[in-house]
Amino acid sequence: MSVRVRYAPSPTGLQHIGSVRTALFNYLYARATGGAFVLRIEDTDRERFSPEALDDIHATFDWLGLSWDEGPGVGGPYGPYFQSQRAELYRAHAESLVGSGHAYRCYCTSERLAELREQQAQKKGEQGYDRRCRTLSDDERTRLEDSGAPSVIRFRVPLEGSSVFEDTILGAVKRKNRDINPDPVLLKSDGFPTYHLANVVDDHLMEITHILRAQEWVPSASLHVLLYDAFGWSPPVFCHLPMVMGKDGKKLSKRHGSTSVVDFRRAGYLNDAVVNYIALLGWAFDDKTEFFTRDELETKFSIERLNKSPAVFDYKKLEWFNGAYIRALSDAELINKIIPFLENAGLVTNPPSAEHCEILDGVAPLVKERLKLLSDAPEALRFLLSEIDPPTLEDLVPKKAGPKDALVALQEVEKLLDGFFDRTDEQNEEMFREASERLEMKLGHLLMPVRIAVTGSSVSPPLFGSIQLLGETKTRVRISEAIERLKEAIE
Ligand code: GLU
Ligand code: ZN
Repeated sequence: MSVRVRYAPSPTGLQHIGSVRTALFNYLYARATGGAFVLRIEDTDRERFSPEALDDIHATFDWLGLSWDEGPGVGGPYGPYFQSQRAELYRAHAESLVGSGHAYRCYCTSERLAELREQQAQKKGEQGYDRRCRTLSDDERTRLEDSGAPSVIRFRVPLEGSSVFEDTILGAVKRKNRDINPDPVLLKSDGFPTYHLANVVDDHLMEITHILRAQEWVPSASLHVLLYDAFGWSPPVFCHLPMVMGKDGKKLSKRHGSTSVVDFRRAGYLNDAVVNYIALLGWAFDDKTEFFTRDELETKFSIERLNKSPAVFDYKKLEWFNGAYIRALSDAELINKIIPFLENAGLVTNPPSAEHCEILDGVAPLVKERLKLLSDAPEALRFLLSEIDPPTLEDLVPKKAGPKDALVALQEVEKLLDGFFDRTDEQNEEMFREASERLEMKLGHLLMPVRIAVTGSSVSPPLFGSIQLLGETKTRVRISEAIERLKEAIE
């Protein structure tokens, strides 16, 4: 039997780390087993449906480089893949359960249910629907039907016995039927199904073999196995993935930082780094390997190696992964990925001007070792691509030095610029070292004012490489402007 798995998002919010982890594991499991990966859009909750959320599913999959074998756009033999287009199927299945006695119509008004909730809130004891319509007499039913009263269809949860299923990760999960939410709604009065009905009907009709999803769905699974039973179907294999936590051991949420994938994309994470890191949230190939190419993940992933214990999402670790992936890019790849960020910051045009192209050709070695995020590139490269704000006097003068020292340093560097552009970085370093000894000035005190004058910042890419790329004319202008400022201050 070949594996069929699905990712079944409800388009109500942005794709986040947890949901994408579910999507990725299903995708990888399909790839590793030669099975099929289905995308099904669970959009029956029309009030919470959001078109942006649907766009975000597409954008996220595109960016992560994940594709589906069946689903929106590509179709497939089990479509349609939007639940909103399958309403008739769910209705028929709900009716069939009424026919077989596993479900019943409930005519309770929303006022009555609200009152019931209020009463229950005041005293401890049984919560949820009180099963009133479960035992209506035939006469009463007929009267209510004839009066045109709207109704929902509720599942008749057996009062005795237990719901049991074997979870690949959790082992046997057993729950007394008495502890299951009493008689949940399957079909709403508007004819739309609830999650429980649509999810079970579709997993069966779409011949899903394995359900990989977050552990928060375990209570639903207990109910679902009763539904499978009522329909006379056998359930798929359940595989409830460990929770994703922040470092504080609490469920990952916005309090910990960005969680939506689009935020990570905008912050300049590489898709491959994100995929690699997310693959490790609850799965491990062995106890040491951390880096996996896409191909390796698609062959090595297995549900046998999924963890039971919660996975910790560590922002610092992801950043570290990202840095490693950035360093592994070729210079050309890196520049191509950086350009949109520079464009966004208004530093280059699309396409970049000829002058900027020349500079961009040389920047990769300057930043590759230091960038953790692509979004750090604009700040690091601003001085090369645009004018800088003239540095203040305070910035120009190193700590424990005076304006005169800074002036001496810059005047010396003006001289060192003769021939600078024909020398290698090593040769220039030697020249600067000699000069600092001759002037009896710390090397740092010689270099810092230049760095500030030329790049506008005390943290910049390597100085000599930066000067080489900026070119002689601009470098000299910036240095002489700084010299003027210092002279004015000294007078
Ligand atoms: N639509 C549900 C969700 O939003 C699907 C849960 C499941 O995988 O069964 O996550
Ligand atoms: Zn009722």
